[in-house]
This record gives sequence, structure tokens and C-alpha cells, in this order.
Amino acid sequence: MKIKRTANAGVLLTISGETFLLDGVCGEVYPYMKTPQHIREEIEKNYPDNVLFTHYHDDHYDKAFAKDYELKTLRSVIGPESQFVKGTNGAQIISVPTRHIGKSDFPHVSFIIKKEESVWFMGDVSALALKEMKNYEKPDVLIVPYACVNTLSSVKNVKAVGAKTIVVLHLPEREKDEYKLWDAVEKCTENEENIFIPEMGEIIKF
Ligand SMILES: [Zn+2]
Repeated sequence: MKIKRTANAGVLLTISGETFLLDGVCGEVYPYMKTPQHIREEIEKNYPDNVLFTHYHDDHYDKAFAKDYELKTLRSVIGPESQFVKGTNGAQIISVPTRHIGKSDFPHVSFIIKKEESVWFMGDVSALALKEMKNYEKPDVLIVPYACVNTLSSVKNVKAVGAKTIVVLHLPEREKDEYKLWDAVEKCTENEENIFIPEMGEIIKF
């Protein structure tokens, strides 16, 4: 299994040869990073098997990309509309409605992707909503936004999920980090060997 960071809070996930683009193309919402042009072109040259979006905020979603994908592949983008379980090429995708961070009732889901290995992709989830996932089998890899690891108590909650590896997304470029998000996250995770923060374009193999 591997992931490549392709967006502010998105990755291209490959499990046993099947590809899943998760919140994986987005525009720029200051101070967060957009999908770089060369990465976008790579994705468009070789469309993933599955394209999924947790919600329709611009730092997670690109409407033009989604439309093009559907037109060119005749496959549907999977969005946050409802709870479901879908089978694809040997994989199972479970969509779980979860609360978006903050006082928000904006429609938002997290995705469980299961094949030989499993991933929970949490989108912009509220750290509190992680507890609501406790009835699902624990994942090999848990992918969360920085707001799930910027206090010691949130790190504890994230580790309680029991994943072997935790991947953190959604941090801004360091030069634009006026709220010192990097400082908070690095302070809370400095002794954690299983928490990774990929750079844009970086590939992590598990
Ligand atoms: Zn959002």
C-alpha cells in the first residue's frame, strides 16, 4: 500500500494495484496549498479507479476536475451525499457521516477503504467524531487533518483508534503559517514514531 500527497488534505492511495483519489484535487484556500499543476496533469493523464470527496469545501474539492473525471471515464465521483457501502474492484468503500470540525453541520463523510489492508480517510473530521467510529474494525492507516493532532489530548484520541500508522494532512506551507499550526503539531507529535506528515507530492509506502 502507498499514498502520495496530491492536495492540501488529499492523497492518491494505492492498495493492491487499485487507486483511490481521496480529496485529491483542490484549489487554493489561503493559507492552504492547492494541487500543483504538474500533479494535476499526472492525475488527469492516468485517471484513478475511484475518486472520492469527503465534502465540498474548496480546500478539499475541485468541481471542474470532478466533472471532467465523470465525462471522460463515465464513472461517478463519490461524494458526501449519504451513508453507503460500495464494492469496487475487490475493494469495499464504506462512507460514514461524520461531523466536520468546528460548529458545522456542513455535509461531511469519512471513508473506510478495505482491501487486503484498510485505511480510514477522515477528511475535515472533528476530533470528537473519531470516537463515533469505534464500531468499525481498526484500520492499518488512519489519515487525519492537523486539527486532530494539535493538542496532547487530541493525539491521545487519535492513537486510541489503534492504527499502525497515522498520516497528518492539511497543514499550510510553513511561510504562510501565521497561526503557528506547525509548532503546535510538531510539539504534540515529536515523540511519536508512527505519525507522518507528508510534503506535497511525497510518497509514503507502508
Ligand atoms: Zn472543510
